[in-house]
Amino acid sequence: MALYNVGDRVIVRENLGTIDNNYRYGYGSGMERFCGQTVTISAVNHDFEDENCVVYSLAEDDEHWKWGSDDFVGLADSSTSQPIVSKKADLKTAWGQYCDTDKLVDDVMALLTKYGHRNSEYGVCKMLNEYFTNKKDLIELFQKSEHYIGDMRMMIDIELERENSACDIRKFCDEFCSNVGASKLLLKYKDENGKKFEDYLRTGVKSITAKDLMKPETATKLKKATEAQDKFARDGATLASHMVNNECYGTVRKFRNISISTISKEFAESVDEKYKVREGMKTSRAFNRVCTFYGIDKAKKYNKLFAQYADMVNGLKRKLKFFISVNPIDYLTMSFGVNWASCHTIDKENRRRMPSSYSGMYCGGTMSYMLDGTSIITFVHDHVPTNWEDGKIYRCMFHYGNDILVQGRVYPQGNDGRTDLYKVFRNYMQDELSALLGLTDTIWRKKDNGRVSSNVNSLGVHYRDYTNFSDCNVSYPRERSDSSDNVITIGHSGVCPHCGRPITENGRISHSSCRVPLADTAWTTVTTTTFSF
Ligand SMILES: [Zn+2]
Repeated sequence: MALYNVGDRVIVRENLGTIDNNYRYGYGSGMERFCGQTVTISAVNHDFEDENCVVYSLAEDDEHWKWGSDDFVGLADSSTSQPIVSKKADLKTAWGQYCDTDKLVDDVMALLTKYGHRNSEYGVCKMLNEYFTNKKDLIELFQKSEHYIGDMRMMIDIELERENSACDIRKFCDEFCSNVGASKLLLKYKDENGKKFEDYLRTGVKSITAKDLMKPETATKLKKATEAQDKFARDGATLASHMVNNECYGTVRKFRNISISTISKEFAESVDEKYKVREGMKTSRAFNRVCTFYGIDKAKKYNKLFAQYADMVNGLKRKLKFFISVNPIDYLTMSFGVNWASCHTIDKENRRRMPSSYSGMYCGGTMSYMLDGTSIITFVHDHVPTNWEDGKIYRCMFHYGNDILVQGRVYPQGNDGRTDLYKVFRNYMQDELSALLGLTDTIWRKKDNGRVSSNVNSLGVHYRDYTNFSDCNVSYPRERSDSSDNVITIGHSGVCPHCGRPITENGRISHSSCRVPLADTAWTTVTTTTFSF
């Protein structure tokens, strides 16, 4: 299926000129005379099932040149049988049963405007109309779920095993004493007599002559003072307290090599009996005993730091929220990670300040997924976001249809220590689908790696991660094994949220320049409304 069919009347973009790069398949002499003109598609070659690779021929140039979707503005006469949805009220009438469509239009417009993508109520309504038309079946499937939370989303509470990171633990133990401020508590500046170093400098003798030194009482006094002074270090703290301080640092640092949650026999034997650290004891408890022994558990920062340590060594499970969504905002923000971005981000200028945003070179892909009939976005948060721009911890696209489930790449990475996130997320997705599809046998089978390409047709401008990464896969319900070779279509050509016409540019959400024929009545109506830029 290509964007245009034989017989379609399309408009060639204006001002393409005579430069090779301006045409999808390069410039050929005379092509420029079609710019801005309405032409007729006479042949369509779409061997690769990818709109970017579709080759169109035109009747008007006797099929002399190859043309691509990018060379066309869109259909010349888009008068179809469908009612024209061009404003919020129309969208509400058509799709209001699924969500508050007025709010959705406002939110989409605000989001696009914030990240510098031109839009209008007209364009966004056209885009969302296409979305609802194609996603209707998935939305209705989701609505049946006990996990459905409204707004085309499901939410499941999940727990993820956290891998102890040996490196983090080492770093933590090395820095713990200074971070908690142990020396402040351990170093004593007064000796057992309650006197400071300075106190021993004042001997009670104002000036000493050689003669004075002959007097035994003066000499004894001086000797005692010197001895007392020797019990202090250069910083004025007592040497005894320095020893305790050093011992504390040393003992805490011994924990740097333990990344298991219980104390081993060897470790228990390697530390002094006085700490009462026993084999089999929880590592965090043993750590706490050592700290309590030195009284550094009374430090202000202790509780916070200790909690951090306990989290690391206890192999705690993280309580997280797993979202399964077909909400338009979630596609647009699919690469808004908590500390990551990807080439699909609509934040082309990297205002979110992520390590790499790849200039959003595939940002049009968000719409490709949004507008097709199969793509489902799943993502993980540690809370229910109140603002859907909140950074996602993980994101993975799934594509479901014809009883097969395609799993895309897990971002930012497919594992959490030893945990295979592909498997974890796929299992949640499959379990959810099993219930929604009413499967009696809830087992799913996964095809061998690298077999995704034979199960998919790709359209639109999204990045085909599912055919480019070996972890991506196809699975199907065991009781529907006949479906294993079924094919689904992933992606869809875009709808410009500004002019509402087709768009097939990778790096853009809306046209760089919307060329709209004056004859378009829908456009004429909308010119009376205000646009947001
Ligand atoms: Zn446009």
